Amino acid sequence: MSVRYTTLGRTDTIGASCHFLSIHGTGVALDAGLDPEEDGPASTPDFRIIKQEPDWYIDHVLVTHAHHDHLGGLPVLFREFPHALAHMTPATRKLADVLLPASARLQRRRMREGSSAYDPLFDEEDVELHSYLYLTHDPGDPFDVTGLNGQTTVTAEFFDAGHILGSAGVLLTYEDEGTERRLFYTGDTNPNAQTIIPGGTYPEPPIDTLLLESTLGADPEAEQTTRREEERKLRDAVVRVLERGGNVVIPVFAIGRAQEILALIDRYKQRGAIDADVPVYTAGLQRAISDIYDKTRTHTPRLNSEFRVYGVDQERVPRSSQGKRRGLHEPSIYVVTSGMMFEGTLSNWFAQRIVEDEDSSVILVGFSKEGSPADRLLSAAESEEAMHVVLDELVGPQQLRCEVQRLRFSGHGTRRDLLDIVGELQPAHVVLVHGDADARTWMADNLSHFYPDVKVTNSKTGQTLTL
Ligand SMILES: [Zn+2]
Repeated sequence: MSVRYTTLGRTDTIGASCHFLSIHGTGVALDAGLDPEEDGPASTPDFRIIKQEPDWYIDHVLVTHAHHDHLGGLPVLFREFPHALAHMTPATRKLADVLLPASARLQRRRMREGSSAYDPLFDEEDVELHSYLYLTHDPGDPFDVTGLNGQTTVTAEFFDAGHILGSAGVLLTYEDEGTERRLFYTGDTNPNAQTIIPGGTYPEPPIDTLLLESTLGADPEAEQTTRREEERKLRDAVVRVLERGGNVVIPVFAIGRAQEILALIDRYKQRGAIDADVPVYTAGLQRAISDIYDKTRTHTPRLNSEFRVYGVDQERVPRSSQGKRRGLHEPSIYVVTSGMMFEGTLSNWFAQRIVEDEDSSVILVGFSKEGSPADRLLSAAESEEAMHVVLDELVGPQQLRCEVQRLRFSGHGTRRDLLDIVGELQPAHVVLVHGDADARTWMADNLSHFYPDVKVTNSKTGQTLTL
């Protein structure tokens, strides 16, 4: 019997994160995400890969953080492996308790409205039933994850990952043929401090196997910008728009980016760059998540444990269109979802209202998938000829007059950071996970260049590696 690794999510894109390890009779899953680019059963990890092997089974699943592509498939995993136990940090659990029921409601609504052809993968009752299978552990507290048929002890430990609230990397320690082995899975990781969350921490070297995320592997721009520069650009852009009487729309992801941007706006107000009276609007799930950020502020890593997201004066976006329109009459800041401005979301609605106003601005602060409304807006703004943009197919082309700016506030380490992590952890073997094909190619090429003694493997769905 040996130690085997396989990945259950798609590997040609970012996909659903879910990795499986069979460690001398113990089955451990790392993350249980859903693929945000897929719908219905195609979005789930491919659990058949485990079921095809007679002695493979999931005893424990370790969830690194609460993003949908790492957590969203947990109820599906429990249905397939009803005796599995889930492990996460206390903050990730708090986020999961809000996010999984919200995901169930969204799936139901999409089926009802006809925007999804599939039955929901789970409902709120499933989520409620499974929640007693969640166990929480603080980073730095090792815990046992040996399976029922495990022949050697397997221990796990979380390390702060610096990505979003509650995010963690996982260190697994086990014995293999008389030798202690250490495997570290980065999850999504960022060694640099953001505005609220400090940078990640990593185990002592050396590591035998490193499962390394490679999200920004094909992104040369990310390593050429500094956070400080981007913060200054954000401040200048907001000040400029407010001074000329326009509105600012900042589309954000509900977890992480939303809170980090509010913290920055607070800083600008505190320092007098922005008038304290300028209204800041927020809405929906993002507000519930900000509340969790605040409730955990004294016992999770913070740059300033005094800072509260709700200490930033903010108004709830009015429900009625009339109420929303009224707000736009005075210069205001909208920090609203979705980050990619999908149709039917608040960021799309507000962008439609200001896109023809040359005094206003949309400031993009996150990743925009190709073809998403945020990407269409950015492409139109960057092209010399485009005078129009389609933010919503139902509305059709609109004149593009507002200012559009793109800034970089990633929760991921740059590709240089990822190479440095490898240098620090001194692994014998790196398995590249979670990144587009070109991102992994860059990582693989550079790892072999800088660390010729390190074995590098590209994970592939269904392909089993012997560790
Ligand atoms: Zn993430």
